Amino acid sequence: MTKGFALAIHGGAGVAPRTQMTSQREAAYHAALSRVLRIGEDILAADGTALDAVTAAVSALEDEPLFNAGRGAVFTRDGTHEMDAAIMDGRSRRAGAVAGIAGPRNPVQLARAVMERTDHVMMIGEGALAVAREAGLAFEENAYFFTQERWDSLQETLRMQAEGTLDDDPSRRHGTVGAVARDRNGNLAAATSTGGMTAKRTGRVGDSPIIGAGTFADNATCAVSATGDGEAFMRRVVAHEIDARMRHAGQSLVAAARHVVQTDLTAHQGSGGLIAVNHDGDVVMPYNCDGMYRGSVREGEPAHTAVYD
Ligand code: ASP
Repeated sequence: MTKGFALAIHGGAGVAPRTQMTSQREAAYHAALSRVLRIGEDILAADGTALDAVTAAVSALEDEPLFNAGRGAVFTRDGTHEMDAAIMDGRSRRAGAVAGIAGPRNPVQLARAVMERTDHVMMIGEGALAVAREAGLAFEENAYFFTQERWDSLQETLRMQAEGTLDDDPSRRHGTVGAVARDRNGNLAAATSTGGMTAKRTGRVGDSPIIGAGTFADNATCAVSATGDGEAFMRRVVAHEIDARMRHAGQSLVAAARHVVQTDLTAHQGSGGLIAVNHDGDVVMPYNCDGMYRGSVREGEPAHTAVYD
């Protein structure tokens, strides 16, 4: 039990198999995760809210082209970007989400604007972009979001689809970013942002912006941000399943999260993982694939980042 703050972040479960990872690239991931952890930690250490910490951490992850969200998002099969994001406040279960958007530099900030400036939870299309403009959020041209690596992944995926040789290598297909936090007042928050799956159909929405699937927060139980095969995560209603196990079955965060990821998702071919924190500041980061870009810090303890086991 800690009275201090806790923060966990992820940069997605779409990691390259260890054999394909160079030490240089792995070091770049660790550096990026450490930098983002510090941004969130500084807010929490200055008595900031969990909501502000996850907003800032996810914004920084979106700005980092190494990860599939914001700048560096993957492409749809039509070569466009469509981004999904959500945020949830554990104090009140207020939530905001956007799906299939392109233009705003930080989709998570638009999700927060939906939560704070409208009566709605989820918005899409022109209406969502209008909220971004009203909130004065920054917009970027397509070129800002482009990265050669994601473009090459799209071409490779389309070629493999055409040849009928597509495998399920998660490093080519997906990735996502997210953060969960507990602030010094014991309040929880979660946020998630993604470009989705490489070569997804235009109009496809994943689990990340679906409250209860990829994102969830309630002070009474936990805050969760997920990453992985979005369709499986939606079918298993992953984040809310963890909440329900804690709420109704009295399970610990560790037991609930482990069951949902290692047993439930694995049995249903759902590859991926999640980060979660509870009211006591316990942090869990289970995954059932090769690895997950992740990091965490608790007040008074050193921060740590990891990619594989
Ligand atoms: N869950 C995301 C989606 O389905 C992708 C990912 O996390 O890798 O859009």
